Amino acid sequence: MPTPLTADTIVTAPKVLLHDHLDGGLRPATLVDLAEQVGYRGLPTTVVPDLARWFAESAYSGSLERYLETFTHTTAVMQTRESLVRVASECVQDLAADGVVYAEVRFAPELHTERNLTLDEVVRAALDGVAAGTRVAARAGQQIRARLLLTAMRHAARSREIAELSIAFRDQEVAGFDIAGAEAGFPPTRHLDAFEYLRRENAHFTIHAGEAFGLPSIWEAIQWCGADRLGHGVRIVDDITVDRDGNATLGRLAAYVRDKRIPLEMAPTSNVQTGAATSIAEHPIGLLTALKFRVTVNTDNRLMSGCSMTSEMTALSEAFGYDWHTLQWFAVNAMKSAFLPFAERLILINDVIKPAYDRLRAG
Ligand SMILES: [Zn+2]
Repeated sequence: MPTPLTADTIVTAPKVLLHDHLDGGLRPATLVDLAEQVGYRGLPTTVVPDLARWFAESAYSGSLERYLETFTHTTAVMQTRESLVRVASECVQDLAADGVVYAEVRFAPELHTERNLTLDEVVRAALDGVAAGTRVAARAGQQIRARLLLTAMRHAARSREIAELSIAFRDQEVAGFDIAGAEAGFPPTRHLDAFEYLRRENAHFTIHAGEAFGLPSIWEAIQWCGADRLGHGVRIVDDITVDRDGNATLGRLAAYVRDKRIPLEMAPTSNVQTGAATSIAEHPIGLLTALKFRVTVNTDNRLMSGCSMTSEMTALSEAFGYDWHTLQWFAVNAMKSAFLPFAERLILINDVIKPAYDRLRAG
């Protein structure tokens, strides 16, 4: 196995992030600050390093349901325009500093209306924060294009409304739509009305599927709902058999996903934490990459997982010996799968990503 790449060079490589939750990426210090400002007393501790550790420990509980509980604290402090602007701005700054050149950051507007912001006001605040963060990053010499995905919660009944919101803001850096939340008992077909509406509007969406739950969830997301991408999609490996000689046979669903180049938004550390994979080294991303599925690498929740794009890429490089060629492949895969007009995707691939990896390979 070649020498693994190290974090100090990987951070300089252009990376593309399609699956990152705004309420899963707060700086611990900001969470403490905002809790103080808005009078939220529910944090387990206000000592910043202890709080960071508490999130990491909760994330390793092995249960998606308990993992999702940690979000009650982050969303609790994101109920005002000022806090949403700040969190979105810092998110973009942190991603830019991590070498991310294109990002789609998602969040659920319906979780931010406890203090009477309207859904429109919530989205406007997040967009203003994204724009502000992009300007701050540019002043620091870091170019990033960041857009939002609007998420509806799969256990709730507001998906059509949130889908309409994503269309209302489609020309203002809202790139698309998503549904998230605990999979078990809440199949994506509950939200068919929203997906059919989006298809009629020629809009893009991704669906969290095949994370905690198996193939039926993936099948429904693609064949009933028409998802452009799969949030995680890890369990697609259940439709692949590998014999003793390492030869893989794909079932019909896995073959469909690969043939149609349906992007898998994989987040290795997050998947290990929720029990969707046992370790990074045993994560299905190794097999799926070898089989040339449209694999993308993502952070999911940087606070809960204590991760970044650089740390995920570094861990993958250590586990699987990935070199610059594979890291470039991940970045190009993600860029090809972005909800961004084709011409703009090409510019990022040809003028930003490829020349940078050429330089890195040349050393
Ligand atoms: Zn997610």
